[in-house]
Order: sequence, then C-alpha cells, then structure tokens
Amino acid sequence: MKQPNNFRIKTNKTTVIALAVIVVFGLILTNLSFLYFSYLNTTFEDENRYYLNELSNQMSSSVAKEIKYNFNYLEILYMSAVDEKIETFDKFFAVAEREKDLWNFIDVFVVGENGEIYTSQGDEIMGTGQKFISSIVDERVNSVFLASDANDQRVLIFSKTVDNFSLNGRQIVGISTVYDLNSFEKNINIDAFDKKAKINIMTPNGTLVISNVTDVTGVGDHNFFRIAEKSAMQNEDQIIQMKNDISENKFGDVVLEIEDKREYVSYSPIGTEQMYFVVSVLVDVVNAQNKLFMTSTYMFLGFVIFIGLGLAIMLYYRYFEGKKEIERIAFVDSLTKASTTQHFILSVENHLRLKHNNRHAIVYTNLDKFRIVNELFGREVGNGVLVILNAIFKESLADDELIGRMSADHFILFLNYTNESELAKRFEEWGDKFSDSLRDNKFEISPPVINYGIYIVNVEEDPESNCQLMIDRAKFSLSGNQISLGTRTRYSIYNLEYNLELMREKEIEDLIEDALKNEDFKLYLQPKYSTDSEEMVGAEALVRWHGKYGMIYPNEFIPLFERNGFILHLDHYIFEQTCKQISRWIEEDKKCVKISVNLSQLNFEKTNFLDDYIFMIQKYKVPTEYIEFEITESAIYKDTQRIIEFINKIHELGITCSVDDFGSGYSSLNRLKEIQADTLKIDGIFFEINDDENKRAYSIVRSIVEMAKNLNMKTVAEGVESREQVDLLKKMGCDLIQGYYFAKPMTVKDFEERYNKK
Ligand code: C2E
Ligand code: CA
Ligand code: CA
Repeated sequence: MKQPNNFRIKTNKTTVIALAVIVVFGLILTNLSFLYFSYLNTTFEDENRYYLNELSNQMSSSVAKEIKYNFNYLEILYMSAVDEKIETFDKFFAVAEREKDLWNFIDVFVVGENGEIYTSQGDEIMGTGQKFISSIVDERVNSVFLASDANDQRVLIFSKTVDNFSLNGRQIVGISTVYDLNSFEKNINIDAFDKKAKINIMTPNGTLVISNVTDVTGVGDHNFFRIAEKSAMQNEDQIIQMKNDISENKFGDVVLEIEDKREYVSYSPIGTEQMYFVVSVLVDVVNAQNKLFMTSTYMFLGFVIFIGLGLAIMLYYRYFEGKKEIERIAFVDSLTKASTTQHFILSVENHLRLKHNNRHAIVYTNLDKFRIVNELFGREVGNGVLVILNAIFKESLADDELIGRMSADHFILFLNYTNESELAKRFEEWGDKFSDSLRDNKFEISPPVINYGIYIVNVEEDPESNCQLMIDRAKFSLSGNQISLGTRTRYSIYNLEYNLELMREKEIEDLIEDALKNEDFKLYLQPKYSTDSEEMVGAEALVRWHGKYGMIYPNEFIPLFERNGFILHLDHYIFEQTCKQISRWIEEDKKCVKISVNLSQLNFEKTNFLDDYIFMIQKYKVPTEYIEFEITESAIYKDTQRIIEFINKIHELGITCSVDDFGSGYSSLNRLKEIQADTLKIDGIFFEINDDENKRAYSIVRSIVEMAKNLNMKTVAEGVESREQVDLLKKMGCDLIQGYYFAKPMTVKDFEERYNKK
C-alpha cells in the first residue's frame, strides 16, 4: 500500500485523478468497513456466547463427574455397612476411617431420625446446618451443601438418605461425607476464564450452593433468581426463559442486568443431581473490543480517506488482538499455553476443511506413571514436566501443525504425515530432548516413557472430518499393540481391524453380535445414474457401522469379517434390509429402482446359501426385477463353476448379476464369456489416476465398454467424480455411472427425501 506523502508532493493532473480515485475508493471502503464492522459485531457476539456455553457445559460435566463420584462413595459406604452387618457407631466410623484417604473426604457423620448428628470426633457442623438436616429428615432427598466447619474452613457436605439402618439401636436416616471445598474446586478446575467469570452452582429453584463470588453461608439472600429480579426490572423475561429451560432440564444462555452491568449468563444441568451450573461473564469484559469497533467506526466516517485507511488497518489489527485475548481466555490451557481441546478441535476441523491434500496424523500422548510423579514429587514437579514436554513438542511443530492439551499428561498433536518411520524419528528426537531437558532443568526424576497413540487422517475416507472421533481413535490405539523405540518411547497406530483382532475371539463375537442386535449396521444407498438421461435409475446397498467408535466404513471391518466368517451374516442382514426397503416402497406406492447387493466370495463356499436369500425375497414379496447381486471379479475366478451355476439359478428367478471391481485384478475375457453376468462394474481405480496416466486409463475403459457391448453386457462406471469423466463416459457409451459426482452413499432417509417423494 502506498504512503500518504507520495500523493502530497505532486500536484499535477494525475495526482488529482489519483486522489479522486482514492476518495471514491475510500468512501466505498468506509461504507464497506461500516457493514463489515457491524457484521463482525454480531458474529463476534455469537461466537462469544458459543464459547461460554461450551465452557459451561464442559465445566458442568466435570462437576457432575466429581459429584457423582462422591455420591457413589456414599452409596458404597452404606452398602458395605449393610453387607458387613455393622450395627455400632464405632464399627461404622472405623470403616469410614479406613477409606478416608482413598476418597479424599475429611470427615463423615450420620444423621438420626430427629435430625441429631453423630460424628466420629464430636464436631458440630455450622452454617447451613439446619437446611441440609431438613433436606434429609423432612424432604428425604440426597443433597450437597456448602458449610463452614468448626475451624471456619469452607466444606462441602454430601448427604445420602438411608432406610432401615440403625447404629447403637438408633434409627439413622442419613449418611454424610465432608469434603474440603478447595480440593473439590481444584478438581473441577473452577478457576478457568482467568477468574473473570462468576461461577455458581445452584438448585433448580435458584438457591446457591457453591459460588466463587458470594459467601453462600453468610447472611443475605442467596437465591440467584431473586438477586437477579431485584437487580433490574428488565431481567424478568430472561429469568422466565431460564426457569423454563431449567424446568425442562435444558441448558441455555441469557443476558442479565446485575448491579447496572450486563452479564452473559450460561447455564447447564449437572448430570442427574438436580443441580445447575451457572457461569456468568460481564458483557463488557467479553465485548470490550466490540464497543471499541463501533465507536471507532463512527469516528471513522468523519475522517478523510487517508486517515480512514489508517484507522481501518489499526482497527483491523485491534480486532485480532482483542479476539486473541478472548481466545486466550477460553482457548488456552493455563499451564502450558497449549490449545484447549475445544480450540484444538475447531482448528483441526477448520484446517481439514481448507486444505485436504496433505496427509495428517492425530497423536495422543500418555506418560507412563505420570500420576506417580505427581504423588511422589508433588504437583509442581508434575506441572514442570508438562511444561517442558509442551515446549519440546511446540518447538518442533511446523507452521501448520497444532498442539493441544486435553488433561493431565494427555497432549494432542496434529502433525503432517508422510510415513511411519518419519513420525517415529520425530518421536525419538522428542524422547531424547525430553530427558536432556529434564536433566538440564535439574529435575531429579527419571524421564517418564512417552506413549503415542496415532490416528492417521484420511480426508477422502473421512469426509466429515470429525476431529473428536479422530482423537478418540488415537487414544483408543494406545490400548493396542505398541511398538517400542528405545526405552523411552512407545507408539501404536489406530487400525480398527487390528484393534478388533487384539480382542479375544469371544469378545469380537459379542461385539458383532451386539452390533447386529442393536441394529448398528446401517443400510446406505448409493444412487446409480443413467449416463444418457442423467437420472437416478438404480442404487447399490452399502453397509455402515454406527458403533461406539462413531461411523466406521466397510474397508475397516470387512476384511476381518471375511476372515472370521461373519460376513455371511452381514451380507444376509443387508440383503434383508434391502428387501424390507423395497417392499415398503411398493406398499407406499413410491418410486422403486433396482438395488444391487454385495455378495462376499465366502458365500459361495456354502452350498445352498441362495435358499436363505430366496426365503427373504418370498418373505417380503419383493419382485425380483428390483434385485441385483454384485460379485467381485476376483470371486469369480476363484469359484467359477459354482458361480456359473449360481447365475443360472438367479436368472431363472429373474434376478440379475454384476461383476464388481472389474479391471482391478487380472481381467479375463474368456471367463467373462462363460459366466453370463448381466453387468460389468468398471473399478473406480481408472478414475482416480493423475493427468499423465489419464490417456492410458481411458483407453482401457473404452475397450472394456466395447468388449462388454460385444458380450451383451451393460456397463457401470464406479468412482466417477468429475464432469469431464461423465462427458467422456457418455461418448464411450457407458450405460450407468455411480460416483460422488452425482451422489455419495446416503442413508435410506436421505435417499427417499431426494428421490422417492412419490
Ligand atoms: P464397492 O462394492 O466397490 O463399493 C463402492 C465403493 O466406492 C463404496 O465404498 C463407495 O462409497 C465408493 N465410492 C463410490 N463413488 C465414489 C467416488 O466417486 N469416489 C470415491 N473415492 N469413492 C466412491 P464403501 O461404501 O466404503 O465400500 C467399500 C467396499 O466395502 C465396497 O466396495 C464393498 O466391496 C464392501 N462392502 C460394502 N458393503 C458391503 C456389504 O454389505 N457386503 C459386502 N460383502 N461388502 C460390502
Ligand atoms: Ca459393490
Ligand atoms: Ca466396486
């Protein structure tokens, strides 16, 4: 961009024109910037609220976990007292004492039926004492309350009601454990947001139980709703919305006016504990930079072009600085300054959306015995180790690589991937640096072994780019067979098939059996289009596994299923789903097309397997014209004689047959003549190749199409992704096209929405 004084010196005609151009340009720019800034303002606000909600959800689920954990302990304590037939205070408190350290509570007491408290040490519980006693004795509900103990320390009291339980002959109605609030808060990481957020935990009717802003055990009103209502009239509607959400156990956010300041308030239920987690942040804090934009933009309009331009640059710069500040609060791990998980995921997904030609790996780290480092040497040493490790990772990252920290010693890395040995080399370097750095920094611990779990991202196979799923997989691979690099590093690469293989046979069977029962295998349909009319005229049935690892593509499990024989059940299952679907369409008088179903080669090793298929056809009364079987080219060569018989039989029934993946193996014309298949599916590999090989590939495709015509066979081209390919195939006279260019495999519901609306 030119500097202003370039224009001031010259006063000739060109300068005037240049100035005029700049004036016009500046005016346009001014207007555009105005629009731009108001756009930024709204998106910015949306984004902030989104982060807040995310944060509140995350925090509330960690609080929920912590709370559930504590209630579980109460349950266990009670159960073991019942189990061991404990009937005296002494014994009961002895059992509790035994487990004190394991469960981190500081005291236990029990509540009698008249609200009297029995403790092991005879301490009195102060503060909200009456409230929680009445919650147990009168309301008979489990509860969590904040209180101060005899030493004025803030504690949390978890209480569980019990029935038919007595100690020393006295009826006991509740058991309570007392936790140090500070350690509880540490566990739930309540000081996120750099302590700029107000964090409250309240009951559905607004009673504050825990708060980092008010002393809820002190005097005064501790009801969130009442405080908000008193604070400003205009809060009324927002509070109604909040109460509505809470009554339906939903999360949400509102803007409230508290003490003359506007606050974003985001709330979410804490598990099933009848408790709400509420985070609020001053709108001013969050939006400081938005305001600055707006005022500057107005001023901006008053200025002339040069200053305007200057300002635009400055404001733009400020925007990014401001945004950085917000992102720093919500997106940066406070210990290591690495990204938080949330930020990592957003960045990775963004990255994958933008450029999807590079290959990447998601790597999940785990340090051996890191907990022990923490316990033996203290948290500070533990944290130091993490900071060092983070620095080593960070230093070695390329510009487009990313790092995040999930929790404790679990970092997540997004790395460029070329091959395994390259990656292993980096791991080894990191291991060396790690131990050097620990020694240089005078850490007197032996460097913990770093374990890496790797998921290799394949954007083509994973078009949805679900980063959370990738992280889960990287993490999951840690439990697989690890490869050791020296003594300090281990890694393992995710591979579903392989991970399944690691399980015992029985486990796999159970897993698959469950998947069948839970209907985790889903029927997907990929349309086939007529090359001439470019209309949908058929489809292929393809399976997807919606398991606990997310959606799994067939390439990941079919090879294993073929080895353990389960493919026979799966093929049959998919065939049944297909029959059901066709008969439903007929019943509902919807448009119906021929669906082709894959048959694994293994089927042909079982005589009479066709009988089961015919049974399905009859059961669902499917007209056979709507069915086609796909058999791979390689299966045909393996079992030619059986397949000839099979095809003759299905032809008698009116079912057609296609040869799948033709051209991928050794294609033999003579065999093709023998087997009387109806259709040739030309393998997608011909359409994947680069420009140089294009000509050769297309001449092969052309001759396959011609050959098929001579044999009276139809042709389907698979894996067609571009318009050029469609046009070429049209010229060659190929009959059908199946490929992403027209449509990807989709759920039956999507298929119906797109094609079958009567
Ligand atoms: P296939 O029978 O060759 O199926 C075609 C595959 O190509 C499908 O992959 C489909 O999603 C993919 N594809 C279609 N158009 C395009 C395109 O334009 N570009 C690219 N890159 N790919 C395209 P999918 O669904 O992952 O299935 C993979 C293989 O798994 C299938 O290859 C088939 O051999 C097997 N399979 C799937 N479902 C079943 C089943 O129910 N039984 C048996 N035995 N095998 C199945
Ligand atoms: Ca197929
Ligand atoms: Ca195929």
